Amino acid sequence: MKVINLVTIGYGGMGSYHTHTLIPEVDSAIRVTGAYDIDPARQKVAAEKNLFVYESLAEIWQDSQVEAVLIATPNDSHKDLALAALAAGKHVVCEKPAMMNTAELDEVLAAATRAGKTFMVHQNRRWDPDYLIVRDLYQNQPIGQIVQLESRVHGANGIPGDWRHLAKHGGGMLLDWGVHLIDQILWLVDAPLVDVKVDFSYLLGDEVDDGFVSYLTFENGVRALIEVGTTNFVKLPRWYVKGLQGTAKIDDWDLTGEVVRATNHSTVVAPSPIQAGVGLTKTMAPPAEAATESLDLPKALAEYPSFYQNFYEVVREAGEPIVKNEQVRQALQVMEQMLDSAKQSLQV
Ligand code: NAD
Repeated sequence: MKVINLVTIGYGGMGSYHTHTLIPEVDSAIRVTGAYDIDPARQKVAAEKNLFVYESLAEIWQDSQVEAVLIATPNDSHKDLALAALAAGKHVVCEKPAMMNTAELDEVLAAATRAGKTFMVHQNRRWDPDYLIVRDLYQNQPIGQIVQLESRVHGANGIPGDWRHLAKHGGGMLLDWGVHLIDQILWLVDAPLVDVKVDFSYLLGDEVDDGFVSYLTFENGVRALIEVGTTNFVKLPRWYVKGLQGTAKIDDWDLTGEVVRATNHSTVVAPSPIQAGVGLTKTMAPPAEAATESLDLPKALAEYPSFYQNFYEVVREAGEPIVKNEQVRQALQVMEQMLDSAKQSLQV
């Protein structure tokens, strides 16, 4: 096994997580040999962690021992850093969102092709256990054909940090969590997307969105609601999934939830009316006991290697990337559509 030496550019929250957690998990096939950050305080922390600290980007580009870099800087800096790294002959792992828009991505992908180097985007939420459960529900259909997916992340801490508040740095929740949730849905539903609707939230008064609700409709009839909220003191479930024979709910990343499906017994008696507020309802009464059964949530298993294992395979063994750049581009395109439709609705 020929180790890939990698340098982390942007040794902040995510850069240090890659350096000390994600990359060491791949059995020393990839080794983080150094780091570079424009913030001297982060350079100092990197040195304290025994990383070789580069004083400039040029020093990284000139270091022939460095085969790859991780770009984990604010979103607006990804393009220039990726172009420079590729021009210097380095492979690139880039944090999401890959770029600010598809035009930037196209420029970088053309540069990667010219350089003959790998450019891979860390769309890591394809490996999330909650998502793997939804994939199982979608593909194996224990609650029948899936027709509705609701994917939500709710927090109550507002927009975190500094640069995420500013449009010029690619701030806002669409570019932050939005790209993950859109990528998850696009990778799951194997049908053309026919409609995209969005409603952005600006409750916090920032120039960028602090959340949004969007609806994606696919040609096969599947509808997906995607919602990100940073002012939600009570959370809705992470996932709510409807199939033609049942419903599943995953409450949170702790993977609690429930799956209930119809038994379709011919002998089931209709439920009796229940008191509902100041009225009666039969429609909304709990189904008769024999009409439904509870199932366990499926096991969350990925049938594909981890992100960095895959990066190694792509670089060393001409393997197929799990996160393909055309898929990354499609998610960016959907986000562009959302931003355009919001601009148009402002003009009405
Ligand atoms: P952060 O603010 O914690 O860290 C960014 C670091 O980059 C800072 O230390 C900053 O000083 C440094 N920096 C800024 N410009 C630089 C430059 N030109 N050269 C070198 N260093 C520079 O931000 P973060 O939360 O770590 O986010 C970084 C990237 O990671 C963003 O693109 C973000 O979207 C992404 N991210 C991804 C995930 C995920 O789950 N995939 C999670 C969090 C963040």
